[in-house]
Amino acid sequence: MGAKATIAIIGGGASGAILLLRLNRVFGDQMLVKIVDPDEHLGWGRAYSTSDEAHLLNVSAENMSVFDEHPLDFVDWLKAQGHEPHQIPTWPFVPRAWFGSYLSQKIAEVPTTRYQHIGARALSLRRKAGIWFVKTDIDHVVEADGVVIATGFEKTLSSTLLKTATSTALAWVIQPYDTKKLNEIGASDSVVIVGTGLTAIDVYRQLRKHTAGKIHFISRHGFLPLRHPNENLESEIRLPRLNGFSPIQIFQTLRAFEKTRIISWIQIVNQVRRQSGDIWRAWSPRERGQFFRHLKTYWEISRHRMPSFVADELLQDAANGRVQIHPGRIISTKAAGTQIQMQFQPRGTTTAAELLCEWIILATDSKIEESLDIRQVKMAVKKSQHGLGYVNIGAGNLWLLGPSAKASLWESTAVPEIVSQALVISKQIISAFHDQNENIFTVHPMAVGQTYWQHLTGALGYTLTFAKTVIILGIHALLPFLFADYASNRVRDLTRLFNKRRLKK
Ligand SMILES: Cc1cc2nc3c(=O)[nH]c(=O)nc-3n(C[C@H](O)[C@H](O)[C@H](O)COP(=O)(O)OP(=O)(O)OC[C@H]3O[C@@H](n4cnc5c(N)ncnc54)[C@H](O)[C@@H]3O)c2cc1C
Repeated sequence: MGAKATIAIIGGGASGAILLLRLNRVFGDQMLVKIVDPDEHLGWGRAYSTSDEAHLLNVSAENMSVFDEHPLDFVDWLKAQGHEPHQIPTWPFVPRAWFGSYLSQKIAEVPTTRYQHIGARALSLRRKAGIWFVKTDIDHVVEADGVVIATGFEKTLSSTLLKTATSTALAWVIQPYDTKKLNEIGASDSVVIVGTGLTAIDVYRQLRKHTAGKIHFISRHGFLPLRHPNENLESEIRLPRLNGFSPIQIFQTLRAFEKTRIISWIQIVNQVRRQSGDIWRAWSPRERGQFFRHLKTYWEISRHRMPSFVADELLQDAANGRVQIHPGRIISTKAAGTQIQMQFQPRGTTTAAELLCEWIILATDSKIEESLDIRQVKMAVKKSQHGLGYVNIGAGNLWLLGPSAKASLWESTAVPEIVSQALVISKQIISAFHDQNENIFTVHPMAVGQTYWQHLTGALGYTLTFAKTVIILGIHALLPFLFADYASNRVRDLTRLFNKRRLKK
């Protein structure tokens, strides 16, 4: 690396924060990171800025480390905060706000000489003579050698329902994370939640704590997310490589596997997830359109799952009539006395039906934020089709991260995916800024996202574990009544750890 390089990250949500942590580890004082985000605190973003502990992670805490080389970093952090797994009733799904605290604490450990937080909204991008210029809404232009777009999701949901609701009804239409408004909902008020995905489940769990009124869910298909299995066992059956298959062929192939009953649907989905980027990139625009029209909903409910105990809560509430799920399309909403009358067309019927409620809560899919003006950098980046963020065309040190990169990667939202992407980006930044005088001691550590010393400590740690195991195994050979399970347990733990890292990659 030559002179100190500067990278601007647009967006300081979880993605921006994870990349900052990675760049800090890899480059240390050799890099200055400028994060542009109007939010006061980095790392929380859309997903983790909730303070409601009913909002849980939908990924196991064991997969939420922000450091690829230390897969249990988040779990260790939880323990250090006094959150022992066996004392957490919802384990391994912990409150999302805890993950936000974890990220902000990790950021607080980064020396402030290595990054700047520019509290502004980025408006447009320009590049001249190899330098990037990020124009912001505070009349300040951020300059950098490279730029990363990590602007995530739109802050507020928009929907035709909001646009067409009468002005009286509008007062009763609530955004899903507007805690203040949600708390205004009366104990016996009935509510319509628009959407049946994980955001809708968040709203349901929050409401369930303080209201006893009826909760209606409405969405086109009325499908709820599948449940996480209690044990996530890997299948020994390997699916074929599916890139090159059309969406319909893939669906038929997977159904055929499922019918054999030697591999479960969840195990199938887990394996397809690892191929999803390759499959997505191989599809033509027409095939992607087919996927959107016919299969996306099925994929989303299989892929974004809810904890098993939440599924049980819902089933129980549905059985006692408190929760009702309506597959259908909203036609209109209007005020009816003190209530809202919603007309909808139940799926598969031709006659309209009606619902009465006190509140409507929008909990549909969030749209990806795409408001950055990139017209002046057409050679480097463009907006994608289907509202999936941006597409990197390749010219000049520009990277996309997290949901902003969905158009090229498809699965690009969950923390494990963002952590892997941050690692890849850090490697590409190394190649982009590396000078020719490569240091043989740092080439491999940098390629795996570590400094020489981090790599040395990690590798020596494994060496010591192996050495201790060999000694104990020797003692066990001589005195078989001692350390009967020690060596086999260590080998099993290490195999699990290496498998996990391999699968993540
Ligand atoms: C409700 C919810 C729950 C989730 N739960 C989980 C989970 O349990 N486990 C998991 O692995 N994943 C989860 N995810 C997915 C994932 O972790 C998030 O998508 C991730 O937080 C994405 O982070 P981000 O920084 O890319 O986007 P965001 O969190 O949306 O943050 C984007 C940031 O960019 C800023 N920004 C936007 N535009 C500009 C601009 N023009 N200029 C400057 N700044 C800008 C915003 O202010 C914001 O701070 C969840 C997602 C959501 C929405």
